[in-house]
Amino acid sequence: MSEPQLCDLSSSGRRGVRFPTCDVPFSDLPEGLLRQDLPLPELSEVDVVRHFTHLSQLNYGIDTGFYPLGSCTMKYNPKVNEEAARLPGFTGTHPLQPVETVQGNLLLMYELQNWLKEIAGFAGVTLQPAAGAHGEMTGIMIIHAYHVARGDLKRTKIIIPDSAHGTNPATSAMLGMQVVEVKSDSRGNVDLEALKAQCDDTLAGIMLTNPNTLGLFDEHVLEVVRIVHAAGGLVYGDGANFNAILGIVRPGDLGIDVMHFNLHKTFSTPHGGGGPGSGPVGVGANLVDFLPGPLVDIIDAGDDENPPLYGFVTPRLSVGRVKAFHGHFGMHVRAYTYMLSYGGAGLRQVSETAVLNANYLLARLRGVYKLPYDRTCMHEFVIEGHLEGAPEIHALDISKRLMDYKFHPPTNYFPLIVPEALMIEPTETESQQTLDAFADVMIKIAEEAHTAPELLKNAPHNTPVGRLDEVKAAKELVLCCGVAPLA
Ligand SMILES: *Cc1c(COP(=O)(O)O)cnc(C)c1O
Repeated sequence: MSEPQLCDLSSSGRRGVRFPTCDVPFSDLPEGLLRQDLPLPELSEVDVVRHFTHLSQLNYGIDTGFYPLGSCTMKYNPKVNEEAARLPGFTGTHPLQPVETVQGNLLLMYELQNWLKEIAGFAGVTLQPAAGAHGEMTGIMIIHAYHVARGDLKRTKIIIPDSAHGTNPATSAMLGMQVVEVKSDSRGNVDLEALKAQCDDTLAGIMLTNPNTLGLFDEHVLEVVRIVHAAGGLVYGDGANFNAILGIVRPGDLGIDVMHFNLHKTFSTPHGGGGPGSGPVGVGANLVDFLPGPLVDIIDAGDDENPPLYGFVTPRLSVGRVKAFHGHFGMHVRAYTYMLSYGGAGLRQVSETAVLNANYLLARLRGVYKLPYDRTCMHEFVIEGHLEGAPEIHALDISKRLMDYKFHPPTNYFPLIVPEALMIEPTETESQQTLDAFADVMIKIAEEAHTAPELLKNAPHNTPVGRLDEVKAAKELVLCCGVAPLA
């Protein structure tokens, strides 16, 4: 099945616009500018509106349905965030305007920096990085700069647990660090013996995701931090899973030295095709001098008559700028609005509900699907997409079948240490009815795996396109269809 293209709808002579009568003399275009071979469709306005409205409805998004894509925190993006981001006072400013003329924008960034510091227990925050992976890169640059500033040049080893997100080793390797993997223990924690074996005087640090990508809070996190610090290394926190611990645990209090936030996950700014991300980085007091600059600060305290003046400062040993201008300001506005509308107690409730929702779903699926680590989970959990007595069924088949039931699939085949992993993150914004509907379908699919496995193997059956050859789709990108490429 494929969707009709605009050209297929074309009908000779049909028009969507009417030009005013020409009031200047006609003249011919220079030779060659007018091409007769372009397949430009001839359509009425209503044809065009219906076509694009129809296409927009083919898109699955958080505004259309449940989106339990583990590790991505696909929570609902409140529309009040969008209203705030569209305020003309924000959209009409330019990043190069004199600071005196953009005090409101700077106040917002200053407070957002402070709120992130407070909520995560850090001494400094940069809002520049464009996404989590970019924050990771910034954090590793900071760790590297810290060691270099002390003249400790041989510290180039970064330890990364085997449950980590692929961006962790990728960012470290990009910066020329030597990546060493440590395995997880039987309860899904960092294996302490494996960790100790890697700790020596070449250790720059560890990249730790806590709660980790198995959805588990590391039971020895304080010990992990102690071991790494004792060896002279620093602890990088991958904050992608911060949605599980808002207002409950402050990473800085755990001894984490530097961490990125994913505003587009935890603080509800849209992502996954919905817009740019934002990956601010927080650091402890030992690292504030290395933060990228410029940062927003109060540059003149003011007095009884004059309010404080906000401006930009660059830390003493800054690793430099990592992003043009000041990061994705529109995302800062959305995250700020979100935090403001929830307040401190509300943010804690966000995490409590996210964890409760995940454990509720986990309880409903326990016994139907295999759990590689059967512990109380945090905001997400991992099941195995292998069913006893249905050896030909894989995680991918279950995910594709979910689409027939109008659910977005969970994350597939990640984390890598779980065979046939399906990683489910319901988020706090879903009702019990939605969670139950999803659990009912997951249980039904597990039955179908035995009674009608071909339904799973050939799924999806009722989506605009059927099962794709994903390798081919990635290798032979077709980004534009229906229009012949311009020669
Ligand atoms: C999403 C994610 C990242 C990367 O964040 P982006 O904003 O997508 O670059 C890193 N680690 C984990 C665990 C994640 O879930």
